[in-house]
Amino acid sequence: MSEFSLIYQYFKSATSSHKNTVLGIGDDCAVSNIPEDCQLVSCVDTLVMGRHFPEGTQAYAIGYKSVAVNLSDLAAMGAVPYAILLGISLPDCDAVWLAEFSQGITDICAKFGVELIGGDTTKSDKLTISVTALGFVKAGTAITRDGAQIGDIVCVSGNIGSASYALDCLFHQQATTLQSALDLPNPQVELAQKLAPWVNSMIDISDGLGQDLGHILTVSKVGAMLFLDKIPCADELSLLSDDKRWQYQLNGGDDYELCFTLSPENFTLFSQKYPNSIFAIGKIIADKKLVFLNHQKPVNFCVKGYQHF
Ligand code: ADP
Ligand code: MG
Repeated sequence: MSEFSLIYQYFKSATSSHKNTVLGIGDDCAVSNIPEDCQLVSCVDTLVMGRHFPEGTQAYAIGYKSVAVNLSDLAAMGAVPYAILLGISLPDCDAVWLAEFSQGITDICAKFGVELIGGDTTKSDKLTISVTALGFVKAGTAITRDGAQIGDIVCVSGNIGSASYALDCLFHQQATTLQSALDLPNPQVELAQKLAPWVNSMIDISDGLGQDLGHILTVSKVGAMLFLDKIPCADELSLLSDDKRWQYQLNGGDDYELCFTLSPENFTLFSQKYPNSIFAIGKIIADKKLVFLNHQKPVNFCVKGYQHF
């Protein structure tokens, strides 16, 4: 099959004629309108088979997750996702694999009203997928990592540690109900937009809560006190010993939940408006350290997180 018919057969279906798209797949470039008073927010994430996905991951999950991780980055800025571009390097052209992969892409795009507007297709020995995501924010309203204030409450948007626990189960051929947390992460796009007017800093958790919260602390030039017993987790993780669970929650990764800070007043108001949607797990302090407490008692814990090199 030629590169051209491959693109048309499998990727054209993910296009949804978004209102901002003037010209989508088919020409040398896509052409898009930027809504008035908005700024373009963009990011790219590359996923390599064997490194970001265990060998044997379903093609559908690979397609779905490649987009999900990018929508999670857009969410962390408070952006409304608009479109993606898909760069893919494939060892061969397997029709069944491509059909499933593109269905994963199509489904997550449909779920979040995102359009595939272009990409590039090449052959290579190792499956590599690079997704570029584009979104919009009202000018000047993007949420950055550097705004955490002393006295802010540190929050997360949901259960932490499920994906890295599921990955460990996979390696040890142990059954788990949490496989979908690893394969089909749910980027917190809607919640992020609700949060945007209320928060001082925000990041999405991809490399482990400990490390990612650390990024907020470093650039905001503050520290935090984390209440380990308050970090929400799935039932399966609550059965583990404290130390095992904390390893998955703080040093695991692939959560794609949000971590953010906001004033105590805003925390109360937001929680009243949207009950049970955000979870307080700590407090921003002046001392530039990350300290841990379990049921009010200090605990020593070593943050590692995912390191690429
Ligand atoms: P060119 O050689 O000009 O880069 P291509 O043949 O690579 O053109 O691409 C033709 C059209 O198909 C372009 O609009 C491009 O964005 C789109 N395209 C190519 N690969 C993909 C892909 N993997 N996903 C989505 N669109 C793609
Ligand atoms: Mg090209």
